[in-house]
Amino acid sequence: MNQARTVSPLTEKLLIAAGNALARRNRPNRMCIVNYHRVLAAKNPLVATEPDLPTFHWQMELLARCFNVLPLHDALQAWHAGCLPPRAVCITFDDGYRSLHDLALPVLGAYRLPATVFVTSGHIDEGNMWNDRIIDAVQVLPDGQLNLEEFGLGVYPLQSLAQRRAAIDTVTERSKYLPPATRHAVIERLDVLGGRAEAPGLMLTRDMMLRLDREGIEVGAHTVTHPILTSLDDDSARNEIAGSKTQLEELLGKPVRLFAYPNGKAGKDYDQRHVDMVREAGFEAAFTTEVSAIRFGQDRFQLPRSRPWDSTPLRFGLRLLHWLAQG
Ligand SMILES: [Zn+2]
Repeated sequence: MNQARTVSPLTEKLLIAAGNALARRNRPNRMCIVNYHRVLAAKNPLVATEPDLPTFHWQMELLARCFNVLPLHDALQAWHAGCLPPRAVCITFDDGYRSLHDLALPVLGAYRLPATVFVTSGHIDEGNMWNDRIIDAVQVLPDGQLNLEEFGLGVYPLQSLAQRRAAIDTVTERSKYLPPATRHAVIERLDVLGGRAEAPGLMLTRDMMLRLDREGIEVGAHTVTHPILTSLDDDSARNEIAGSKTQLEELLGKPVRLFAYPNGKAGKDYDQRHVDMVREAGFEAAFTTEVSAIRFGQDRFQLPRSRPWDSTPLRFGLRLLHWLAQG
C-alpha cells in the first residue's frame, strides 16, 4: 500500500518564505521547468524513475501550494519581459504517454495546474516506443541469460529482479546511440525472445490528444520518431523536427510553438545545426534536459529542464529552490 505524503503547513511556509527571499534579493526572473514522462498506476521496480500516482499527487500538491505554476508559453513571455513571479515553475511531460491523459490530467485539474506535453508525433495511435518495448520484452523473458552479442550489446544474466533492471538500463542506454536500423533489429530480436507478448499500449491516441488540447494542455513537438538528432544526416534531422510540427498542427488545427530535443543533452544528442533547424522551422523556444533553472539571458532555443528526484515534499521543494539559487 502506498503511503500518500502530504505537504505540511511548516514545509509550505518555509518554501514560500525562502523562495520569496531568493527572488527579492539577487535571483529575480528565474523559473524551473519540471519534466515528467509517464505516471504509473502502481510502482514498477523495472520503471523505477517514473512516479506512481500517489507520488505524482503529492508533487502536484506541493507545486500548487508552494510555487507559482504558469503555462509554459506565458512564462516564457514573462521571462523575456523580466517580470516572472517568485517561485515560478512550469510542468512538462515528454514523449506523449497516455498516462498523462488517464492518470495525470485529473490531478492537474484538481489543483488547476497548467502543463505542456512534448509529443513524438509518429507514435500517436501507434505502438510503444522502442525503450518501452525493451522493458516489455525483458520483463517476460524466462530466467537465464539474454545474449545480444551479435549487436555488440553483450550478455546479461536474468536471475533476479535487480539483474533484469540492470539489463533494461544497460541495453536501453547502449541502444540509444545505435543507428535506427540496428536498434530496430535489437528490438525485433527482443520481441521474438519475449514471445511477442501482448503489451498494453502506452501512447496517446488522436482522441486523447484532442481532449488534452480542449482541457488547456499545450502541445509541443518532440520529433516524429524520437531519434538522437546527432545520429542523423541533416535532411533527416530537418524532416524529424519540421515534420513533427506539421503533423501536430494538422491534428490540432493550431500552431505548435514549442519543441523539446529527444534525450536533450547538448553536444551529445543535438548540436548547433539542430538548434538552427528548430528556429528555421518556426518554433518560438526549445528545451533540453540540462539540470538547471532558466535564468535571464539564456538561449531561448536551449532552455534547461529537469525533475527533482527526492522522495519527500520538503527535499523536492528545496531542490527546486536550489536550482533557482544557482549561478
Ligand atoms: Zn523523449
